[in-house]
Amino acid sequence: MHGRHLFSKLRWKCSCGRVLLRSNHSSAKHDETTLSKTSYCEVSKVSKSRTNSPILKNLFVGHLDTNVLIFPEALTKRELETFNSKVIVPIEKSLEALDKENGKVNDFLDAVKQFGLFGQNVEESHGGRNFSSTEMLRLSELFALNEPISNILFNHNSLGMKCLSLFGTDAQKQNYLPKLTSGEGGIAFCVSELNCGSDLSMVDSTANLSEDGSHYLINGQKTWVQNATNADVFIVFAKTNVSAKQDKVEEKVTVFLVEREGVKVSEPYQTIGLKDVSVHTITLEDTKVPADNVLGEVGAGFQIAIQILYGDLFMKGSVYANILKGLSGQVASHCIKRKQFGKALKEFGLIQEKVGKMTCDTYAMESMSYMTAGILDHYLSPDVLCESAAVKIFSSEKLASGLQDMQQILASSSCTYDNPLSIARHIDNARMNTIANSTNEILRLYIALNCLQHAGLQMQETVRKMRSPLYNLGFVFKEGWDSMKTSGKNPALTLKLYQHVHPDLSVCAESLEVRVLKLKHLVTKYWTTYFNELQEQQMALKRFADIAIHAYAVISCLARATRSKAIGLQHADQEIMIARSVVLKYLKKIDDDIQNLDLGEHSNGDTELKKISEHVMKNGSYYPVHPLTRNW
Ligand SMILES: Cc1cc2nc3c(=O)[nH]c(=O)nc-3n(C[C@H](O)[C@H](O)[C@H](O)COP(=O)(O)OP(=O)(O)OC[C@H]3O[C@@H](n4cnc5c(N)ncnc54)[C@H](O)[C@@H]3O)c2cc1C
Repeated sequence: MHGRHLFSKLRWKCSCGRVLLRSNHSSAKHDETTLSKTSYCEVSKVSKSRTNSPILKNLFVGHLDTNVLIFPEALTKRELETFNSKVIVPIEKSLEALDKENGKVNDFLDAVKQFGLFGQNVEESHGGRNFSSTEMLRLSELFALNEPISNILFNHNSLGMKCLSLFGTDAQKQNYLPKLTSGEGGIAFCVSELNCGSDLSMVDSTANLSEDGSHYLINGQKTWVQNATNADVFIVFAKTNVSAKQDKVEEKVTVFLVEREGVKVSEPYQTIGLKDVSVHTITLEDTKVPADNVLGEVGAGFQIAIQILYGDLFMKGSVYANILKGLSGQVASHCIKRKQFGKALKEFGLIQEKVGKMTCDTYAMESMSYMTAGILDHYLSPDVLCESAAVKIFSSEKLASGLQDMQQILASSSCTYDNPLSIARHIDNARMNTIANSTNEILRLYIALNCLQHAGLQMQETVRKMRSPLYNLGFVFKEGWDSMKTSGKNPALTLKLYQHVHPDLSVCAESLEVRVLKLKHLVTKYWTTYFNELQEQQMALKRFADIAIHAYAVISCLARATRSKAIGLQHADQEIMIARSVVLKYLKKIDDDIQNLDLGEHSNGDTELKKISEHVMKNGSYYPVHPLTRNW
């Protein structure tokens, strides 16, 4: 093992076999940086004509395309400079001025309008800016600390406009996009109802086609509709009758573009955060909508919802990271200035632990977001819905824990709204992030089921043989032997991931590969054991999803830190250290999940949790008697 690392220090190869670092001897430092920088830029340029192989799904079959360890170079130097000078800097200046003047939400929205940010992802021919995913991500950071604006923009661009741009006909785009891109009108995305939260099949709203086929009459109520106050157009999901096989009729969800005059908007909800985002119930009563206003195919509502709801979730990663980044300055300054027990807070190990942890998580959130955006920009129709969902889950949870750690450090100063150090507003706003845009648990199930299904298709033959061991003794024995070898201390590593990261991270890359191999064997085991019942094993599915999410954090950080070191960015050595900490922390979590999956529900505590929960439901609430109870 040691020899292999030494070798990797001398010959750090990129995926195409080019040598990026020739030696790690200090006298060669300048040469190395120049060489690695040029070579790195060369290999990281990927043409959009290529298709990507899905990262997380492939982990479940024990594969990791080494290309993913090359952090995407999403913008050329010139593109980046132009984007910064023409877009980012002017907006930043305008926002700074508004901040100084204590601008209100509408002032910020006017600025957003002025810079054309209501049509970020819309083609220029329809008045939009046609920004790439990476550019949109960078832009979203500017509004991170202004959560209401950030939410309004996400709902407008990443849900409404994206849906219209992807699924709208030319006529629909021509009709609606110009007004919406100019910001003159807004767009709202309306899926949820009283009985329909996570489960789209529970949509009660109906859309009945008129006899002459010219229009639909829509009836129903949609809850939790953001941007409803300003919306001119509502994207409404409603049930329609769709002809199925053998002259039968099926009810399927269809998506409609509904104009404002057909919609009643309720008073705004009193939400626990995001006070300036208007959230409403909307009511449609015999609302007449032309048949031409069906968005996408009739009955395609489910596929459209998933693609739109999950597609841009990766943007949340960078937004949430920038909330933590934005607040980190005041936390650091408090740690330096505030003295207790004769020492500044920054001297205490428990403070250092929190600051270090927040920094690592913020780094991971940013890396995962930009990794996903880069893949979207580089590849043709990339398969990244699982990755996008993984970014949202990881980032919303790390934002919550990061804010909690900040609150702990700032202590009483953070607990009132009027203290300059208060982060209470951000804590309030963050409380709904794990629920909005699909709950994190539903997203976890989505990741696990999709990755397992992908693996299941490829492992069909193996699983079939494993389920009939008596007829396939030799095969079963070999599988068992392979599995034992992988769970041993030094499994044979064939992916050679260590060759594709910076030498300082090669041990991390090898450790990741060991987990990928173990994951593959666990997937085979679970398919063999549960087969058709696998989707019912939710506690196991959560663990599979967490392995995928944490592996994505590890992969993204390895790739980003490798790039930073290769091109000699400021703080690159620190980035290597951060990446190592992320890998250490999240591989431990992966190990825990692997161990618990291997133990199975009867030995890892899951069965007990199920029984305890059943007892709570049977009892109607918490059931153990009071600790002071006496029965003698
Ligand atoms: C701030 C905010 C903004 C929103 N904006 C919009 C919007 O603009 N448009 C819109 O249409 N909606 C919007 N929503 C609604 C949001 O999409 C839903 O709240 C979300 O999908 C969850 O639905 P629910 O609240 O009904 O929870 P439920 O679906 O009732 O779920 C309750 C709990 O059960 C869990 N659960 C449900 N099904 C399963 C299962 N099969 N297996 C395991 N666990 C399960 C969930 O994870 C959750 O923990 C918004 C919500 C919030 C909080």
